[in-house]
Amino acid sequence: MRPLLIGRFQPFHNGHLWLVNRIVREYGSIIIGIGSAQESHTLVNPFTAGERHYMIQKSLEEAGIHDYYLVPIEDIYRNSLWVSHITSLAPPFDVAISGNPLVKRLFMEAGKKVIEPEMHNRELYSGREIRKRIIANEPWKDLVPNGTYRVILEIDGENRIRDLSKTDEIIK
Ligand code: ATP
Ligand code: MG
Repeated sequence: MRPLLIGRFQPFHNGHLWLVNRIVREYGSIIIGIGSAQESHTLVNPFTAGERHYMIQKSLEEAGIHDYYLVPIEDIYRNSLWVSHITSLAPPFDVAISGNPLVKRLFMEAGKKVIEPEMHNRELYSGREIRKRIIANEPWKDLVPNGTYRVILEIDGENRIRDLSKTDEIIK
């Protein structure tokens, strides 16, 4: 069975790595769908699909994981066609891994098996927490694999996120 994990990976963090490790140990390989691939330079989606691809690849190679396939998946804003859209882009898969209720329902309606993953230290390991810490100048290095950390430094990602959090409006 080949599993598919979908996320936005903004950024790829230690919770994601923990989950990928478990999935690869169980199934032997993984397809990772990089969701909302068209998005970048917003507070919720600061990194491009290419940058996310780069950080995931660096992190997995460093962790000794080689049996993975990365697929950028743009939003199509049509939920009833979303699973077909993914199927048209990804290598063949048998099971989707997701805890998101909408994602679960869409795969289920399309006749695909869905497995709900466990969360690992979710208070710390979440994209939102990492973006929040970067804006607040708080330590975040320990929440991500070294590969992600180095890619974010290389692309000046900290300053990008801080700039995205600013405005030229007068806040009353
Ligand atoms: P954001 O806060 O930006 O939504 P996120 O941490 O939820 O970021 P996503 O890219 O939305 O990251 O997550 C994709 C999937 O990764 C989730 O649906 C979930 O299955 C898994 N995941 C996220 N965080 C963890 C974690 N701490 N432990 C295990 N799995 C996780
Ligand atoms: Mg999320």
